[in-house]
Amino acid sequence: MTAPEALGAAASHAFAATFGHSPAVLASAPGRVNLIGEHTDYNDGFVLPFAIERRAWCALASRGNSILRATTTLDDAVAEIGVDDLDPANLAGWSAYVFGVVWALREHGVDVASRGGLDIAVTSDVPLGAGLSSSAALECAVAVAIDEAWDLGLGRDVLARVCQRAENGAVGAPTGIMDQTASLLGQAGHGVLLDCRDNHSEIVPLRFAENGLDVMVIDTRVTHEHVTGGYAERRASCDRGAAALGVSSLRDLGVADLRRAQAALDDETFRRVRHVVTENERVLAAARTLASDGPRAIGPLLLASHASMRDDFEISVPELDRAVEVAVECGALGARMTGGGFGGSAIALVPTERFDLVEAAMLSAFDASGFRAPHIFSVVPSDGARRETL
Ligand code: ADP
Ligand code: MG
Repeated sequence: MTAPEALGAAASHAFAATFGHSPAVLASAPGRVNLIGEHTDYNDGFVLPFAIERRAWCALASRGNSILRATTTLDDAVAEIGVDDLDPANLAGWSAYVFGVVWALREHGVDVASRGGLDIAVTSDVPLGAGLSSSAALECAVAVAIDEAWDLGLGRDVLARVCQRAENGAVGAPTGIMDQTASLLGQAGHGVLLDCRDNHSEIVPLRFAENGLDVMVIDTRVTHEHVTGGYAERRASCDRGAAALGVSSLRDLGVADLRRAQAALDDETFRRVRHVVTENERVLAAARTLASDGPRAIGPLLLASHASMRDDFEISVPELDRAVEVAVECGALGARMTGGGFGGSAIALVPTERFDLVEAAMLSAFDASGFRAPHIFSVVPSDGARRETL
């Protein structure tokens, strides 16, 4: 992780070096870790993510024509598009996340054409494709920067929907609204319990540090494929299951409905449905348990969530399963894969004094299994997106 002020300076520096003038606005937005609630968001269910200290940064200024230009410190690429050409069909690659936000603002009703062009520089220390939502961090940093530059005064809930629309419509990734909500509404020390049916959110104290706990992230560095991969397939299974059971979404089913579901559905679709139904229950149980007994008591819920993703939803990979096993063997209170699946990261709730031991055991277990060495680090529940001082 890079020091936050260094990233802000890097975004401003890239801006000046690329565009030859100074940025007018600087904004940052965090990645997120989902504590529990996987593949529930697009089923109108519950999720409990928290914003992390790793952030995307966006330096931005208006320009007096109708051209949007963007650069990223990832590879110093510069992308360009005319405001009149803003259309998903003309967007591709990393800049679709950036220009997609402008497109989604226009779809929302913002008079983009009258605002002129924009120069945009972005940087980030959220690892890409690790399940920590570098994509939402990027969209939200850009959205907050534009909201400030154009003085739009859009609420955080509106910006979350705009960013989700950018990801769905412009990038073409059929994701729910969890990532953007966590990035925009997160608060230091807290999780965001989000009801994806009405987007109502509640800030939930996590108290990890007070209870001697670290959240370890084990980035397996196995890359996932959201757009074309199993994500869309799982989503289709959920839609099929809901339709066959006569509900508008799987949110409308409870554990009591599972017997009926089993009778009505083929085995695979049933297991997909069972994951979503039980995962919703686990999210609510985690929120209750955090409030009543504190974070040390949520370990079994994290483990049950992982087992459900491994066995019922079938989105885990051997590296993630091994990470969970090793963490628990070495004294973690709970662990689970997090994010969309098919790779990415696992999280483990680790007593602080055991962090180094778990890390060492993880590295040697991965080595012994012939897996690529994972990236291991801790994350701290942090503040959501904000304007930063230049
Ligand atoms: P995740 O959100 O889990 O990290 P995604 O596949 O959803 O993974 O998003 C990763 C993509 O987001 C990258 O391939 C890239 O196109 C884009 N992206 C994220 N951060 C940046 C950045 N700093 N600069 C350019 N593109 C970025
Ligand atoms: Mg993403």
